[in-house]
Amino acid sequence: NTEITQEWLQSYVDDWVKFYKKQTRDGEVASYIPELNKANPNHLGISIVGNNGVTIKSGDVDIPFTIQSISKVFCFIIACMERGVSYVLDRVDVEPTGEAFNSIMHLEMRKLKKPFNPFVNAGAITVSSMLNGKTSDEKLEPLFILLEKMLGYRPALNINVYESERDTSIRNRAIGYYLLELDYLESDMNITLETYFKQCSIEITVDDLATIGRVFANDGIDPNSGVEIIPRKIVRLAKALMLTCGMYDASGKFAAYVGIPAKSGVSGGIIAVAPPRVRDEELPFIDGCGIGVYGPSLDDKGNSIAGIKLLRHIATKWDLSVF
Ligand code: GLU
Repeated sequence: NTEITQEWLQSYVDDWVKFYKKQTRDGEVASYIPELNKANPNHLGISIVGNNGVTIKSGDVDIPFTIQSISKVFCFIIACMERGVSYVLDRVDVEPTGEAFNSIMHLEMRKLKKPFNPFVNAGAITVSSMLNGKTSDEKLEPLFILLEKMLGYRPALNINVYESERDTSIRNRAIGYYLLELDYLESDMNITLETYFKQCSIEITVDDLATIGRVFANDGIDPNSGVEIIPRKIVRLAKALMLTCGMYDASGKFAAYVGIPAKSGVSGGIIAVAPPRVRDEELPFIDGCGIGVYGPSLDDKGNSIAGIKLLRHIATKWDLSVF
């Protein structure tokens, strides 16, 4: 019966980060965007920001990385805040595809007559087209304001990643043209794609993801100030989508084995959300938390190979599952 203190939790996380760091060797860093391929495959870091103000950080926590697909959650939230939930859901569905994030197949099948969900590229690009504003910078300004409200600073674009992404975007342009043909886009295709490439290139750290995750865990309220930053109805919808569609075509397994809403990106980042739970008396220092993970070595689905294992381990041992 170990007494659970912050020190105990810290050394527990340190031990398991060390353990799973070895498994970064089993994956590969994304190479289809050349700039992402410069990441160090051995990096693995985690930040856990608990509701009671306790932060546990371990491993390579100071490496900035681009949010990539994690931006799809934030832009979906902004679109819902600007246009209303029903407007957005009339144009993008909430069904997992079971296909790769950049698949074009479900668009061609047209079973739903709209993109399957906002977290596959086709759905995310459609969502970016819905954002208010005439230029990509105007469209993304509310996203930067939202991030600044949660983080206390305004994150910046990584211009090298943005340019690398834009210059190697054949598949995303193909998706853009397909969406244009189907009449799904609400604004100019090139401006929409520019918006999408920029949103993916915003640079953050694991601490930032954990801080944002904690706001999600508290249904949109910043627990430090008590202020509602994201409307409850919208953040809950986003969490449902994270749970069903957030981890590419491994989302089912993640829900089954880890059991918390999460979203990953090809840079190796993961944001995960553990809402406060009645039974959390075993972990009084945590009581609901946001978690940020970074590990650029990816598995064959595009998720951080060691990051997923580390999250699974911690979520299991600390009984974080929402089920
Ligand atoms: N910029 C990436 C792309 O669309 C985002 C992919 C991801 O993180 O899943 O190709």
